[in-house]
Amino acid sequence: MRVIESILIDGQWSAGSNAQRGAVYNPATGEQIAQLGFADRSDLDRALAAAARGFDTWRKVSAYERSQVLRKAAALLRERAEEIAVLITQEQGKPLAEARMEANGVGDHIEWYAEEGRRAYGRVIPPRVRGARQIVLREPIGPVAAFSPWNFPVSQLVRKIAGALAAGCSIIAKGPEETPSSCIELCRAFEDAGLPKGVLNLVFGVPAEISEYLIASPVIRKVSFTGSVPVGRTLGALAGQYLKRCTLELGGHAPFIVCDDVDVQAVATLGASLKFRNAGQICASPTRFYVQRGAHDEFVAAFVKASQALKVGHGDDASTQMGPLANGRRVKAMHEYVDDALAVGARSALGGSTDSQGGFFFPPTVLTHVPDNARIMSEEPFGPIASIVAFDTLDEVIAKANALPFGLAAFAFTRSIANATLLADELESGMVSINHFGLAAPETPFGGVKDSGYGSEGGSEGLDAYFTTKFVSQVG
Ligand code: NAD
Repeated sequence: MRVIESILIDGQWSAGSNAQRGAVYNPATGEQIAQLGFADRSDLDRALAAAARGFDTWRKVSAYERSQVLRKAAALLRERAEEIAVLITQEQGKPLAEARMEANGVGDHIEWYAEEGRRAYGRVIPPRVRGARQIVLREPIGPVAAFSPWNFPVSQLVRKIAGALAAGCSIIAKGPEETPSSCIELCRAFEDAGLPKGVLNLVFGVPAEISEYLIASPVIRKVSFTGSVPVGRTLGALAGQYLKRCTLELGGHAPFIVCDDVDVQAVATLGASLKFRNAGQICASPTRFYVQRGAHDEFVAAFVKASQALKVGHGDDASTQMGPLANGRRVKAMHEYVDDALAVGARSALGGSTDSQGGFFFPPTVLTHVPDNARIMSEEPFGPIASIVAFDTLDEVIAKANALPFGLAAFAFTRSIANATLLADELESGMVSINHFGLAAPETPFGGVKDSGYGSEGGSEGLDAYFTTKFVSQVG
């Protein structure tokens, strides 16, 4: 079987030195399509040495020249977007139309960081002593260890790479073992754009072995992880132990609050399309639908109708609107959530079981009357299940929305400005989107509060994460 040359260290691609290899599957068929080269400790040592040298080179390159390289990479990725989209669909399962959106968006992220990197100004502070100068400089923090997940193979990874490179950092990225090929193409574009060797290194392997080794290394100065809360907790603790700066973008359990003054049909249709995008495997996916009692029954009917109409199938079929889940773990988890919810009193309005089509499929599923003690109301579903619950007052729904330890995204729909302002103020969430889906643009911060992590990717906050502050006070 084909072995993917997945490891990039100091400008050289290889299949890695680890005797162990990964298995890459096509989630639409459940069949293994390739083996993945894994890095071992000797590879990681070489990557660390390369990143240390790469940092020494790249931090001395002017912000202007760095932005030129980034812009070139963005242009190459736009040319290669179709090829990359096909790889995303093949390994991750999402419909080709969604994969194209992801692949086309990568260039925007890089360009935004390329521009913002040129505007990473410091500041001048008026001194207390005449003749003195007090200057604040922003300097790249150093080599970064980044860990990115499989749900958006390129758009999760690009935020880390582009942020680090724009600031002048080098980076060792561990890509997602389930979906390596598009990540490899992403890194290849930076190389082809003229990025010096060793500035960007890519590895795959046994995740815990790689993260423990890299985070402990004195070479690494910054850790960035996107993934689940339990893994984030582990990596955050490791980063704390070694006093490494850390950005954590973890899971969510987004409330989707619908007041009874809205166009119920339109909001239900939008809700269903957001819910089932990428088969629900999105950290900001709406997961708890709270609908004001007067609108509840109409909302459920419209939501079920829109969900029922979705064509589920192989991502490379042009008519497919929802693909399979990314792996067998998620399918098993979906069955468990549905069984548990029904056992404690939820009602099934759509879906809930799967007739095996050979791949990792699970249908769009709608549960209503879901009690708070159902597991799906407190654990992140990360799959195509919508739970719909009625509420009466805004105070009640705000309390429910805030009751979980998660705080990534929240959605609210209302025609009342007073309600909108109250919800924006009171929801404990890193991002609140009111009356539309307005998240994840390169220029806006993306990140959570509470157990959903800390720090932001995107926006000027995303770039700040890769800088340290140096204060220079000078006389004469
Ligand atoms: P997981 O927690 O096992 O893995 C999530 C990601 O972290 C994977 O890419 C994995 O390779 C990586 N990972 C796992 N252990 C690691 C370690 N010790 N060091 C470094 N990286 C490590 O979960 P999963 O089964 O792959 O995915 C399901 C859960 O992951 C979901 O419930 C969801 O909460 C979370 N997830 C979140 C996002 C996000 O965008 N925040 C993306 C993908 C997955």
